[in-house]
Amino acid sequence: MIERSAVKILVLDDESFMLKLLSRVLSNLGFTSVTLCDSGRAALDQIVDAETSPNLILLDLNMPEMDGIEFVRHLVERHYAGSLILVSGEDERILQTAEKLVQAHKIPILGHLHKPVKPDALSALLETWTPPLTDSPKAAKKIYSADALRAAIDNGELVNYYQPKVSVATGEVVGVETLVRWLHPVDGVVFPDQFIGLAEAFGLIDDLTQVVFTKAVAQAKVWQQAQLPLRVAVNVSMDNLSSLNFLNFVADLVGKVGVAPHEMVLEVTESRLMQDTRAPLEILTRLRLKRFRLSIDDFGTGHSSLAQLRDIPFDELKIDQGFVHRAWADETLRAMYDASLALARQLGMEVVAEGVEDRNDWDLLRRTGCDLAQGAFVSRPMLATDLPGWVEGWKERVRTELLTQATNQMI
Ligand code: C2E
Ligand code: CA
Ligand code: CA
Repeated sequence: MIERSAVKILVLDDESFMLKLLSRVLSNLGFTSVTLCDSGRAALDQIVDAETSPNLILLDLNMPEMDGIEFVRHLVERHYAGSLILVSGEDERILQTAEKLVQAHKIPILGHLHKPVKPDALSALLETWTPPLTDSPKAAKKIYSADALRAAIDNGELVNYYQPKVSVATGEVVGVETLVRWLHPVDGVVFPDQFIGLAEAFGLIDDLTQVVFTKAVAQAKVWQQAQLPLRVAVNVSMDNLSSLNFLNFVADLVGKVGVAPHEMVLEVTESRLMQDTRAPLEILTRLRLKRFRLSIDDFGTGHSSLAQLRDIPFDELKIDQGFVHRAWADETLRAMYDASLALARQLGMEVVAEGVEDRNDWDLLRRTGCDLAQGAFVSRPMLATDLPGWVEGWKERVRTELLTQATNQMI
């Protein structure tokens, strides 16, 4: 049995008696959230965001202004994430064709109903409804307000996850990258692509970075004291590098906590790095002078000039995951991967390949002599408390699976 109150139904039909009839049937079946619309235009006004949009539409195919098929096209444009039931007085063949058209747009269709609609048939279709997949790329992501994010930062709802970076040659766990998550009291785990841009746009990124960095430094200290010395990387936004606040903040903090700056890595994204250069360049250089490690992130996706890259004293270059996963099978990816690796070598930087998802990716890194690997093949990001246990399992895996194979390959 489906949860009837979770189904937000919209009925679209140009005939008012059909609307009345269907709404009565739905109400008798126990569905309480039902919106009635007599034109496509009125219905589209209801489809604004994932939060308030219906998640099931009963759609009449034959309507005077905007017909059902045209309506479906607009649904696709609006990233409608729910499902559909088609309703029509046309014959079976036309309904089936319409159903195929809708399926081609990848909108889940529960089935079709002939007019006059029989309550039993409608009820049977409704039982097959399932909630839209929230991680489907079609599903419109929830948009948060700056105020909500501000409150989340103040209330300690941001949590650091850590993803290992390991040596490709020895399997040694060299460090971790800090990846922030918002543990939202209602929505659960919210990923950074849903709030980092917001933080940058609304002047919250300095506070966000300070919260993340403070926790990361404290965690680095805890691991050091537990005989688990790990370099801890933190993502730094370009906007953090426009004033001296950040520089002073991180320098004071590591001093207070007692972590050497060279144990902290600052990952800066290349594409944003190159837009405005002077202030960030000066601040990066000064961070480097204080012995923080600097990493150029997502390499290959931006538009950096090689001259600028030489000006900034990076220690590490991260090849974007888009050029790593499946580079062993794809010539274009492989060319980008090889060029990035060669450039890093020439400039004396350590190279990290991101997005290492499977054994084939890992083997390419071994063959080409890449320094460090990061990705799902090694581990997904995890909570700090899970890391020591993971390290033990990883050591075992390296010993039994990963290095033996490589030795064979070399022979
Ligand atoms: P990024 O720095 O490129 O981080 C790597 C992203 O790839 C992470 O996503 C990670 O979970 C994901 N990933 C790891 N292994 C694999 C893999 O094998 N395959 C695939 N397909 N993906 C993998 P996440 O955590 O969602 O972070 C997204 C982006 O958000 C990060 O990209 C980073 O640019 C930004 N971000 C995260 N935390 C912070 C932060 O504290 N401050 C700032 N300014 N940005 C952050
Ligand atoms: Ca990063
Ligand atoms: Ca990256």
